[in-house]
Amino acid sequence: MSAIAQVEPITSTRALRGPFDYRLPEPLRDDVTVGSMLVVPFGARTILGVVTGLTEHSEVADDRLLAPLRALELGVPEELVGLARWIAAEYCSTLARALGLVLPPGATRRLGGRRRSVRRASTGEPVGARLSPDARLSTEQQAALEALAGAIARRTFEQRLLHGVTASGKTEVYLRAAAETLAQGRGAIVMVPEIALTPQIVSRFIERFGDTVAVLHSRLTTAQRYAEWRRLREGGARICVGPRSAVFAPVGQVGLIVIDEEHEASYKHEGDPRYDAREVAEERARRAGALLLLGSATPRPESLLRLPVTRLGRRVDGRPLPPVEVLDMRGQPGTLHPASVQALAEVRAGGGKAIVLLNRRGWSNFLSCRSCGASWGCPECDVTLVLHRASRLLACHHCGHREPVPDRCRQCSSSAVARHGAGTERLAHDLAEVFDEGDFPVFRLDADSVLAGAGQADEGAAAILRSFQEAPRGALIGTQMVAKGHDFPDVQLALVIDADATLRFPDFRSEERTFALIAQLAGRAGRGGHGRVLVQTVTPDARAIVHAAAHDSDGFLAGELERRRALGYPPFSHLVRIVCSSPEAPPAGEAARALALELERRLAAGDGDGEVAVLGPATLFRLRGRERQMLVLKGCSRVAVVRAAGEGVQALVGARAHTGVSFSVDVDPQ
Ligand code: ADP
Ligand code: ZN
Ligand code: ZN
Repeated sequence: MSAIAQVEPITSTRALRGPFDYRLPEPLRDDVTVGSMLVVPFGARTILGVVTGLTEHSEVADDRLLAPLRALELGVPEELVGLARWIAAEYCSTLARALGLVLPPGATRRLGGRRRSVRRASTGEPVGARLSPDARLSTEQQAALEALAGAIARRTFEQRLLHGVTASGKTEVYLRAAAETLAQGRGAIVMVPEIALTPQIVSRFIERFGDTVAVLHSRLTTAQRYAEWRRLREGGARICVGPRSAVFAPVGQVGLIVIDEEHEASYKHEGDPRYDAREVAEERARRAGALLLLGSATPRPESLLRLPVTRLGRRVDGRPLPPVEVLDMRGQPGTLHPASVQALAEVRAGGGKAIVLLNRRGWSNFLSCRSCGASWGCPECDVTLVLHRASRLLACHHCGHREPVPDRCRQCSSSAVARHGAGTERLAHDLAEVFDEGDFPVFRLDADSVLAGAGQADEGAAAILRSFQEAPRGALIGTQMVAKGHDFPDVQLALVIDADATLRFPDFRSEERTFALIAQLAGRAGRGGHGRVLVQTVTPDARAIVHAAAHDSDGFLAGELERRRALGYPPFSHLVRIVCSSPEAPPAGEAARALALELERRLAAGDGDGEVAVLGPATLFRLRGRERQMLVLKGCSRVAVVRAAGEGVQALVGARAHTGVSFSVDVDPQ
């Protein structure tokens, strides 16, 4: 029953920081709590704000205090306001932007207060084989569940890594752990990397728990998402399944948070605030006294180092993991190794299925002129354009720029234009030619085929997966999308083409990514029968490839941790990346140099709560019409690194000397 509400306006400008005080009229006093959403007059405008505090007295003179116009029917749970505060500080963002993450879907659009009732959206056809509840857990599953149930019953914050080989039945363990949580009168959040690519886990939760589950797909309309949000907020639904944003779901009394495929890069959000849903989940679980359960067949080195591990070492059906053969592509012409062609032919002859991974979409990587050597680049970014033959376009995979396919060179008018490198479009086409569509259909799963297949991306992916599932035989060709957690029992062959593609990436996580991609794809083969995996590479001795071929994730992770320790990379240090960008090169360069000086000065004068090194500035390639300069801060104390970055940027922004430059701060960049 407080008289003054402290309100944070929901705006994306960094310059405007609340909270601002509003006087609550009598009728509102009983209902307004921390987390309430108020429509307030703000200057000449009417905006939405979130109540972040309540008090009896304001510093603002009484006659200058305004009253809110009204309160929205449902606000944000108070605990999520606290979580937003933590996010704003942890990722060098603002409270308003962080609150934007925890608001109900479409909140800012509901200012008008119009409300419609919506039908619950269908969650799509279930795909895949399922386990009937009375089924018996394997001994390993049973042991894992007992450990988890103990932790859930203790009602204190605990974390655990479920390191289970592919098809070891991790999903079943999540389901039972969720049931334990409900039995304790608490709720659960289950995060998956991409809903569209993992319809099986969603349908298994719905099948087991019915309306107790709310699903937050990106393909739902805002009204549908709000309806799901509301069911959670009001307690009708107690389990939320969704992508990284599900970590903000208004589940009451959270007792369990599951992060499936915890190694997936999609848990990191790429817009401000650049949060990592795994870290936010940890903080939420800590605040709620909940169990945080991270599952993967290929966990991150940092998770293995930090967390107590529960293992599922065997596939549920007792079958061994499929043998992996490494095919040396050095000196091999063409995209496919002869052994790959033969293996595909055998699968076709035997009436089976194959999955082929080529992590490059489009027809050709780039075009060049045979006469003068000119190549076709993006006008906005410093990258080459990719040929998409079916849509007759050259496209930039960074900014979305498109232009018609040229018939002659812009520089010398020669019509001899060479196409280099094959992507998924080309490979699927070539295989379909060789293997006769009707008898051995070739399906393609990548960002383009998904869009071409249906109006909305998610439906496209689910539809392609369903077609492959329902076909009696055939091949699924695609980008890393094909390596996700699909559970198709009849895949005999998994083939990785150009396993080196991810290794070539200049990033300290490239080996980890390559290992995970190969191991995950291998995991799709031989579920429910004989399986075989082929890996084409020009670096057959690379550590990631050798260990993946041996299904040796322990060996890989041990070596990876050793390497990172020696080089001082995460998890043995923390990194913050700051990117300064502007349309022309000089302002970004000046800002980056000024920021480096500012940071050095502050660190030299610092209170010594940890060594922080400033690396750079280094030039990044031009992206979306902006020249970019990068600085990296590195240190052992995360708090010290984050604080140095936040304060340094704030000082520069505050001084307004670099107005045309935008700064983006990325804590633990991926
Ligand atoms: P993972 O997530 O570890 O890759 P899944 O949870 O997809 O494995 O399980 C693989 C398959 O095994 C699924 O079809 C699942 O229904 C089935 N399964 C899981 N647990 C059992 C069990 N205890 N007995 C029989 N089948 C099981
Ligand atoms: Zn030319
Ligand atoms: Zn571009």
